Amino acid sequence: MVTGGAGFLGSHLCERLLAGGDEVVCVDDFSTGRAENIAHLLDLPGFRFQLQDVTQGLDVPGPVDAVYHLASPASPADYLRLPLETLLVGSYGTRNALELARRSGAGFLLTSTSEVYGSPQVHPQPESYWGNVNPIGPRSVYDEAKRFGEAITMAYRRTHGVRTTIVRLFNTYGPRLRADDGRAVPAFITQALEGRDLTVTGDGGQTRSLCYVDDLVEGLVLAMGSGHSGPINLGNPTEVTMGELALAIRDLCGSSSRLTFVARPQDDPQQRRPDIRAAREELGWAPRTSLEDGLRRTIAWFRDTADAGLPAHRGEAATALA
Ligand code: NAD
Repeated sequence: MVTGGAGFLGSHLCERLLAGGDEVVCVDDFSTGRAENIAHLLDLPGFRFQLQDVTQGLDVPGPVDAVYHLASPASPADYLRLPLETLLVGSYGTRNALELARRSGAGFLLTSTSEVYGSPQVHPQPESYWGNVNPIGPRSVYDEAKRFGEAITMAYRRTHGVRTTIVRLFNTYGPRLRADDGRAVPAFITQALEGRDLTVTGDGGQTRSLCYVDDLVEGLVLAMGSGHSGPINLGNPTEVTMGELALAIRDLCGSSSRLTFVARPQDDPQQRRPDIRAAREELGWAPRTSLEDGLRRTIAWFRDTADAGLPAHRGEAATALA
């Protein structure tokens, strides 16, 4: 079972599980995901799609071995547009997914986030760091929902003995990101391909660490298989400033766009870099794809879908990286 399976990460995870011989039930309400992401999977014998809002309950006929709980708006543009839905899917949605795992005797994996570290005062961020989150700022709907998600996951583990795993994902990119979801990589790529200015927030000196989607998905599968309670950071520790990222994307797109600088969103973290020692030691996992290779593949996908006239690859995206 993959909740949020029609989203960016979820659709790649469904593909990866099917390729490994698993049967997959994908549950999604399309609030931020897209039918196109899973259209190519619908006719595969091992794949089933259920249109469902996971806050309203979660049930599937037949046995379930593993529940990957990804359902949640994830980009700042999405969760700021859907604040109450984000809180509800992090709370009721996570409870319902945990209940399904408990009833089925299934393993459960929560995709938490580096946002639980808020604007970190420890760098890089190890799992032992408790974070620096503004509990009432606009981003808190996401950060606190995920923190609650972690708390209820641990409570189900302690109270009901559910085999739970918490992974904290750092920024991930790749094909199927929506151009208009507010994340920097799709925003810069579409701007560069269309010859528009690349809108960098602040002075572009703030950093993120970007993991290519295939690497990340491998980490999810390993984490589920490990039975480790977590939390375990999954991300690429190579740090890049937003200014450097914009220039790299512009050059890889062969564009002559200019960079323009716009205001940074409230509570936007200045630095982000995962400490991935736990992932290396406990899962034998580390990202393998270089930023340049990952960006090339992502740019190729954006070019192909734009050439094919597919929808939702335009948009005046702000570059507030998740
Ligand atoms: P996404 O928005 O592309 O995918 C989320 C999916 O969840 C969408 O398909 C959406 O329709 C679905 N969804 C949302 N609310 C739902 C509900 N109530 N019922 C059913 N489906 C619902 O985002 P993503 O980038 O693929 O992120 C997936 C997960 O990974 C999220 O939980 C996110 O918090 C986490 N995460 C992602 C990143 C990243 O860089 N992509 C970083 C940290 C954490």
